[in-house]
Amino acid sequence: MGAVKHLLHDQQQEEDQPMPIFSELKSVDRYTRAGHWGKFITCPSCYSTQRVHHFAWSALGCQSCKKMVSKNEWKIHGDGTPY
Ligand SMILES: [Zn+2]
Repeated sequence: MGAVKHLLHDQQQEEDQPMPIFSELKSVDRYTRAGHWGKFITCPSCYSTQRVHHFAWSALGCQSCKKMVSKNEWKIHGDGTPY
């Protein structure tokens, strides 16, 4: 199993990595717009990243740790462009 682990890694990006630049990420604020592809935002509690397509909410439950996180505590991880 060890031999195939690195092959799987690309598909499971950021799963077992902490977020070293988390404190440098910009917070979501009321001017944040999702744009055409949405945005990736990072949970401040578990550092999981998820894509959102709009910011018409004041708080969002994290899909990973289930915690309710208010809008300005989420961090913008980047545009949701599907590379
Ligand atoms: Zn979370």
